[in-house]
Amino acid sequence: MAGPKTPVMQQHARAKGAYPDAIVFFRLGDFYEMFGDDAVLASRLLDLTLTSRNRGKPDEVPMAGVPHHAAHGYIAKLLELGHQVALCEQMADPSKVKGIVPREVVRVITPGLITDGSQLNAATNNWLFALEIAEGAVGVALLDLSTGELLAAELADLAQALAELTRAAPRELLLFGADEEARRAIAAAAPRVALRQGEPLDDAGAVLGDLDAADLPPTAVRAVARALAFARACTPGAELPVRRIARFDPDAAMIIDPVAQRHLELVESWSGLSSATLLAVVDATVTSAGARLLRRRLLSPLKDVERIRRRHDLVELFVVHARLRTEVRKALSDVTDLERLGVRASLGEATPRDLGLLRDGLGAAAETVGLLDAVDDAALRETLGIAQALPDTVDDVRELLSRALVERPPTQAKDGAIFQKGFDAELDELSELQQTGAERMVALEARLRDDTQIPTLKVRYTRVFGWYVEVSRSHAGKAPAEWRRKQTVASGERYTLDELDELSERITSAEERHRERELALLAELVRAAGQARSRIAELSARVARWDVAQGLADVAHRHDYSRPMVDDAERLEIRDGRHPVVERLAAAGRFVPNDVSLDVDGVRLWLVTGPNMAGKSTLLRQAALTCILAQMGSFVPAKSARVGVVDRVLSRVGASDDVARGESTFMVEMRETAEILRSATRRSLVILDEIGRGTSTFDGLAIAWAVAEHLDEAVGCRALFATHYHELTALADVSVHAENFSVSAREVGDDVVFLHQLVPGAASRSYGIAVAKLAGVPESVLARARAVLAKLERGGAAPSSKRKDQLDLFAPKGPEDAAGSEVLETLKQVDVDRLTPLDALTLLAKLKQKL
Ligand code: ADP
Ligand code: MG
Repeated sequence: MAGPKTPVMQQHARAKGAYPDAIVFFRLGDFYEMFGDDAVLASRLLDLTLTSRNRGKPDEVPMAGVPHHAAHGYIAKLLELGHQVALCEQMADPSKVKGIVPREVVRVITPGLITDGSQLNAATNNWLFALEIAEGAVGVALLDLSTGELLAAELADLAQALAELTRAAPRELLLFGADEEARRAIAAAAPRVALRQGEPLDDAGAVLGDLDAADLPPTAVRAVARALAFARACTPGAELPVRRIARFDPDAAMIIDPVAQRHLELVESWSGLSSATLLAVVDATVTSAGARLLRRRLLSPLKDVERIRRRHDLVELFVVHARLRTEVRKALSDVTDLERLGVRASLGEATPRDLGLLRDGLGAAAETVGLLDAVDDAALRETLGIAQALPDTVDDVRELLSRALVERPPTQAKDGAIFQKGFDAELDELSELQQTGAERMVALEARLRDDTQIPTLKVRYTRVFGWYVEVSRSHAGKAPAEWRRKQTVASGERYTLDELDELSERITSAEERHRERELALLAELVRAAGQARSRIAELSARVARWDVAQGLADVAHRHDYSRPMVDDAERLEIRDGRHPVVERLAAAGRFVPNDVSLDVDGVRLWLVTGPNMAGKSTLLRQAALTCILAQMGSFVPAKSARVGVVDRVLSRVGASDDVARGESTFMVEMRETAEILRSATRRSLVILDEIGRGTSTFDGLAIAWAVAEHLDEAVGCRALFATHYHELTALADVSVHAENFSVSAREVGDDVVFLHQLVPGAASRSYGIAVAKLAGVPESVLARARAVLAKLERGGAAPSSKRKDQLDLFAPKGPEDAAGSEVLETLKQVDVDRLTPLDALTLLAKLKQKL
């Protein structure tokens, strides 16, 4: 067992004791060391050499370390893997304290509490998500420490919480009061999140302090308290940059549940290709805060018609005033991440470089405001939100930073050269002193050379010995008696003398005082910027809204989107609509636009049939994406669109289509379908893509029929239903609300040409064999398929190679003849021109075998 610990290891034990869940990075000189289990774990995860400290002594422990200057990358890796890192720093300059240096944990970095810009994705919020399940309600709190935002709400049930969870895609989740089943559902909805189980919470009110939580429901208050308590424990000594709790109303947003979010590829595509998402094709923002805002809006479109129209107004303004858009866009492109820089300043973490970025960003934001202020028209000013007053551009801080900082301040404070000349008299005096000191050393050297008549005499400096006079061996005899010998080296003798000592003392102290002064001024500057954090955040929010609007306007202009008409009617009318992502991937001008028209009081259910690859899925999705775009405040890819507000978009895809999830089970499909039937309302838009596919034909058909009927009769919402079951099209005959459409294809010989054009009525046939041909299935197989199809269409059963009795059914004249007629049929169907020699041989062998 370990014996008595050395004082340093006692310090470590205290740090580890206070943060048992974190890997402790313990500062020893120029290294961060890890000890014990931390060292064993980290050496494996980070590929470090595992050594040990106090080897052979009673308190020997495993040890692994990383250089202080490279810690950054290692920490990022550990966070990526879901770990927490506690930074235990030296609280005093080791050269200035006698005995042991005091050490304290100054910050615990966890995946959900990162504030370092280089470890964050600029275009997404970095949420810490706290979820408290109690008494049938679910409280949620979302904290982004890097932006200082805190949102909270009470949700009705776990399903709603899972939707919020998918929307937020948090890095870290604090979970309280979840039973086993809830935990499993949560883990499935947020697979990449670091999950932490909660500890008891005594007094939520006390944790909240003076944050206003009035009219926030109790579970939400508790979730907020959980998030704050966790964040506070991880930032000891610093004040959290959170100024208010924004209560979000889950009912104000269109609900896009996790499955639909994935299926519609809003922010992530199945292929993992980030360019093939809705977000990617509508994101033309140029600032980080703008990109984050756009993402959030896209995942939570509004339901309030007035608010939606106001957003459209602003986009339209930038569409119409193209010149203004171009200028604003240019100015905005120099706006740095003010929101996060402000937070870093308020946490005392801002580097000189951060302050430089803040200065530049504030300048660009002020320039943007100036451009908008040049707009005279009162109505336009109203739309821009500057009719009453211009935003506070935090000029005082910008001016201070501009006066203080050099053009490109260094990344690390210790590198110096942060401040401009003329900013601080004392600092200037100290640099002057260093400068003149160096000059006086040169003068001293010349004088000593003169006095002693030693031409090789040099005044030199090393870190270890400080300043000295060096005289080569041959002249050593000429050194005056009052010089004191310091050291003998191969090249000669080194001396010191009173005058040199005095001068060197002055230079060294000037250097030291210069560094201290610089650090003190820097801290002052960081504090000044940190105090302006709320104002900076406010400015950043305004700028982000303009950025989102100009970006959407830019997309609308370049890709010919139109302003949708949003109202409360229960209708959806899209003229010449396009799929925003597919159209971008298709060759220019090749996308075929289509209309969609659904009306709860009229035809509200479309049954869409057509061959594979005709464009059914594309049509369904473009209808849903158009509603999402319209309600988030964007223009839409259509000639015109009228969107009656949709409360939720529900979208399911038949099991075998959902390849990326790897769960092609019928069970999953049915569970999701059940969820739709439970949660859809009259105001919902439901798109069902080939459901029922995951099971046998008759089961699948039966289920698809029942689901369509239920949607039609019980829910009565707007719905699009793509199906390969032609039998389903009969539903249109029995329901006045259902109608058939098909995506057309034309047959040219045996080839199929997809027109992608939607036409009324059900598709006549499925063209499956033509599609198989297009896909390169060998001619021998195609010929056989045509033969089988022909039989089936004549009302016979499919031939089977395994069961002889079925052959009888297939050909009543007896097995010999049956085989013969089958061979004949196959031969008739063969397209000789397309047969490769190998195909021909294979076919021949097969036919012969049949006979
Ligand atoms: P289905 O669901 O009917 O099998 P998809 O909707 O998956 O067909 O479409 C197949 C492919 O056809 C798409 O990937 C796209 O390349 C193309 N496509 C679909 N709709 C259109 C259209 N309206 N205009 C042009 N190409 C289209
Ligand atoms: Mg499809």
